[in-house]
Amino acid sequence: MASPEILVVGGGPAGSSAALWLARAGHDVTLVEAKEYPRDKTCGDGLTPRAILQLLDMGFDFDSPAFHRVTGLRSYAGDDLMIELEWPQHSKFPDWGGIIRRRDLDQQVAAIAGKEGVKVLQRTTATPVIEDGRVVAVDLASDGETERVTPRITVIADGSQNRFGREIGVTRRKDYPLGLAARGYWASPRSKDPFMESQLDLRDPTGATMPGYGWVFPLGDGTVNVGVGLLSTFTRWKDVNTSRMLDDYVATAPDHWELSEEPLGKPMGGKLIMSFSRGPLVGPNWIVVGDAAGAINPWNGEGISYAYETGRIAAGYVSQAIAADDPGLLHRYPQHLQDEFGLYYKMARIFVKAIGRPTIMRTLAHTGLRNRPLMEWTLKVMANLLDEDEKGIGERAYDALSGIVRALPVK
Ligand SMILES: Cc1cc2nc3c(=O)[nH]c(=O)nc-3n(C[C@H](O)[C@H](O)[C@H](O)COP(=O)(O)OP(=O)(O)OC[C@H]3O[C@@H](n4cnc5c(N)ncnc54)[C@H](O)[C@@H]3O)c2cc1C
Repeated sequence: MASPEILVVGGGPAGSSAALWLARAGHDVTLVEAKEYPRDKTCGDGLTPRAILQLLDMGFDFDSPAFHRVTGLRSYAGDDLMIELEWPQHSKFPDWGGIIRRRDLDQQVAAIAGKEGVKVLQRTTATPVIEDGRVVAVDLASDGETERVTPRITVIADGSQNRFGREIGVTRRKDYPLGLAARGYWASPRSKDPFMESQLDLRDPTGATMPGYGWVFPLGDGTVNVGVGLLSTFTRWKDVNTSRMLDDYVATAPDHWELSEEPLGKPMGGKLIMSFSRGPLVGPNWIVVGDAAGAINPWNGEGISYAYETGRIAAGYVSQAIAADDPGLLHRYPQHLQDEFGLYYKMARIFVKAIGRPTIMRTLAHTGLRNRPLMEWTLKVMANLLDEDEKGIGERAYDALSGIVRALPVK
């Protein structure tokens, strides 16, 4: 195989987005994915309006039967307190979200990239050959054979485990928060519900508080994705077994879902690497995107949109670096991320520290759910949907808060 100009390692949201935007800019791109599509990925399968915008821009077909459109979020605090919020009107983002199994979503986005000219190699695992921090070559192993290629630039989109990235020296900041989550699929006659649902006051069957949150995301096909998550800022988080926590949540989940007795397949868990806790994000001829960069939004655990967005932003710098024959231009990427997400993620780190005590989380949830305007604002903040172009009172309140946080010496 002739060496591509750009090699993208990993065919999840981050890799497919980077590859697609690079191909659209006219580059010669090869995307390698270790697994074969359709492949499962442990995820809640939830898409906010931010992710929908990225998918619209990429040309995703929302008429796909696998896609279930949702109009908002229903939140609970215990059994009685419940609020349903529509996604907000926004000058840029659509007012709808969606849920789609990752095996379908990732296959379809990789297929769009393929149609745009990306060479997609499945069942192919990439390993770097490194000299002085430079990726001088990449070994591509497939069906027992290995081929060596020498791309000019490598985009690292290898997900939360980040094996390829770790070999080059990408590491995670241990002082930043981390999430743990588990999800499974259950049958439900309510799978066409137009709302995503979250439980902010998790209790085990004895009524004892659990440190975390739960969700039920309807898939529209007779099944729902049910999951639980917790943050490393929660006290006792190291003692928590997320599989047991998921069992407990399912046992107490609202009756209206009429969940099947047994899950459909074995529930799975995974890590949420957030707040750009990984680095360095660029080297002499490589750049890191998505979970590999720790791009997940700590406010809500959303990672798909940030994988698409970082893939797209990185593609812009790779394209410029190639056009100018100056790989040094890649080094502008971390500053771009800092300018776009730095302060917002810093505020999130303060928030997740505060809710680390289940009692504080419970008090906030019970107070918030009694106050619709406050919850509408919270949804906008947590889903990163404040409107920069049409500032209302909520945007101005956020600006005032962020002005204070900017000056705080928080890690
Ligand atoms: C339980 C759970 C629930 C979640 N729920 C949500 C949610 O509802 N909404 C949301 O937005 N986010 C959610 N997330 C986060 C979301 O799943 C991730 O942020 C997202 O998948 C990141 O995309 P990515 O492309 O960076 O990585 P991945 O999706 O992990 O893709 C990486 C790809 O790289 C491939 N790969 C790895 N190494 C190599 C190699 N050496 N060579 C070739 N290929 C390789 C892998 O096979 C994989 O396909 C959840 C995460 C968890 C764990």
